[in-house]
Amino acid sequence: MYYGLEEKHRSRANKLVLFSGVFFSLLRVLTEIRMGDYYSAAVCGVIAAVVLILFVFFSKKNIEIFPLIFSFCLYISYIGASFAIGSFKYFYAYYVLVLLICAIYFNARHFLILFVVTQVVNIFITIFELPNYINGNIWVHFGLIFCSGLMILLMVQFSVKKSNEVNSAFTSFGALMNITPNVLILIDEDNKVKYLSRSVYKVLGIREPESYVGKNFLDLFKENTVKELFGDVAKKRVFFENYQKISIGGRIKTFDVFADKMSENATDGMFFMFNDISEIIRLKELAEQDSIMDGLIQIPNRRGFDRQIINEWNRALRDKVNLSFLMIDIDFFKKYNDTYGHSQGDELLKVAGEVFKNSLKRSTDFVARLGGEEFGVLLHATNSFQASVTAERIRKAVEDEIIVTRTGEQTRFTVSIGVCTLIPRVDLEHNYIVEEADKALYKAKENGRNQVQVADWV
Ligand code: GH3
Ligand code: MG
Ligand code: MG
Repeated sequence: MYYGLEEKHRSRANKLVLFSGVFFSLLRVLTEIRMGDYYSAAVCGVIAAVVLILFVFFSKKNIEIFPLIFSFCLYISYIGASFAIGSFKYFYAYYVLVLLICAIYFNARHFLILFVVTQVVNIFITIFELPNYINGNIWVHFGLIFCSGLMILLMVQFSVKKSNEVNSAFTSFGALMNITPNVLILIDEDNKVKYLSRSVYKVLGIREPESYVGKNFLDLFKENTVKELFGDVAKKRVFFENYQKISIGGRIKTFDVFADKMSENATDGMFFMFNDISEIIRLKELAEQDSIMDGLIQIPNRRGFDRQIINEWNRALRDKVNLSFLMIDIDFFKKYNDTYGHSQGDELLKVAGEVFKNSLKRSTDFVARLGGEEFGVLLHATNSFQASVTAERIRKAVEDEIIVTRTGEQTRFTVSIGVCTLIPRVDLEHNYIVEEADKALYKAKENGRNQVQVADWV
């Protein structure tokens, strides 16, 4: 295992080696032809062709150490060619080339430092030794070959050590991942599963996690929408964080999904992390629901109403339609409490809530307990006439209702209703409709209760 060079750099290194190999060989062939040494030209040509064929063969295999093998092949070819023509003076160029390729391939700082040091030594050798041997001194060149060989050896050693470090770091990380409830999926450049944390079994309900290694990670998910989403994220290789509902064993679970590239430089690998937050979401929804529901009656409370009236007001404002509001107040409720007791009063409130709910026909109609024995009804896209008809229906339904107390006594109650209908305008506050309905309700009380009054707000 060699680390340090990504796929794209590796192929760039390969191309560089190929280009320089062919370039040097051709140059050498041409030089020999110009000098009239056709035999040497032919030998160089044949060796260059063999190397080219080797390159094509190995590039199909796409093995990781290919640049190393190839630069070594070129090196050998150059030694061969030089040996054939009895001159070694071009070795130096190849020594540099091999070092360069290694530097690119391993992308290691240590290697570059060694490279610089040997270059300085080489420059001294070149200055003091080569002028004396114009055609090249075989020992100088073999010295250089030996140096570059040593460099490669050191580098291989270094990268193997590095890869072991990465492996051991990953092993500790893997051990950690096995005890956390989070799911971690590592994928390679082809979106194939490289690693799955053990929690995959429990959280995603995957029977044999090992069997997915090497397969497309999208196979882990059954829903098409989820496959599409994660497929898209993997395709774009982008950072992704969002809540995602995934069906697992027939149950919909909510996950906090977190995905990103393995590192800034790496374009090949990616990871997906899943955190099952279904329980948190469930509790949150429950708490939210609780906070807007009345404790006594199963209808929204004042907070729920405040939220709804803003929505309805804005909706009607946007659609330029009527919004109606009914303010309902139970008549003589204090007296009812005093006569039958507070808990019987509670019973009445529950019955009242049921009667109001049952009297409303449309799914958009909304009833809430505003406090005490006061209720509010919002009617979306409902004109004044329709609203008063609805109010009258409620009033009548209450009038017809009989509540039997625990002692078997039959009791009745009535309500007064104030109605306001308007088309919301930007210069009005949503409270305006409530205030107007309240005024109408006051009038209904004044006029003798058990009746509907419509606000004349215009
Ligand atoms: P009016 O016809 O003018 O509306 O007279 P009312 O007696 O209905 O009005 P008032 O506002 O004087 O009395 C409201 C009573 O409602 C007083 C209060 O004790 C009672 N009440 C408020 N909340 C609850 C509750 O949750 N349960 C019970 N049982 N009574 C409540
Ligand atoms: Mg009241
Ligand atoms: Mg009252």
